[in-house]
Amino acid sequence: MERFQNVLQRLRLAAGRFMLGRNGMDQLNYALLWAYLGVCVVRAIVVALTRSLFVARAFDVLTDVVLVIMAFRILSRNLPKRQAENMRFLDGWRRVRRLTDGAVRRHKDKTHKYYTCKQCGTICRVPTGKGNIIITCPKCGAKIQAKT
Ligand SMILES: [Zn+2]
Repeated sequence: MERFQNVLQRLRLAAGRFMLGRNGMDQLNYALLWAYLGVCVVRAIVVALTRSLFVARAFDVLTDVVLVIMAFRILSRNLPKRQAENMRFLDGWRRVRRLTDGAVRRHKDKTHKYYTCKQCGTICRVPTGKGNIIITCPKCGAKIQAKT
């Protein structure tokens, strides 16, 4: 038992030495891992439905590509470049989260209606139950016809 633990510890040290100076797992790699698992699930469903060998192969290529990118990023020694990629990914992810969070909140809000200004893209909030009204965009002053 003690011997087994020694082997485990040596393996862990060796793995640590091997990974020294390499990128390892970051948020982008975890996202790739989830994407990989997601594609595997979709592959299983689609292949079960279509029974197509071609579809199965196409999904295999996709999952292989994701795994190769992930392995490359884990083992990469070009840390500045990998960290820049990860930051770009996190920025994009935060932007998507802001958009979806906002959409969910607006959907739940039954006492207001939301109109997007066609000129500047500002979202204008108006209370419901006021009939047909004209909204003036607070940012650019454009008039928006609204049915509340
Ligand atoms: Zn506007």
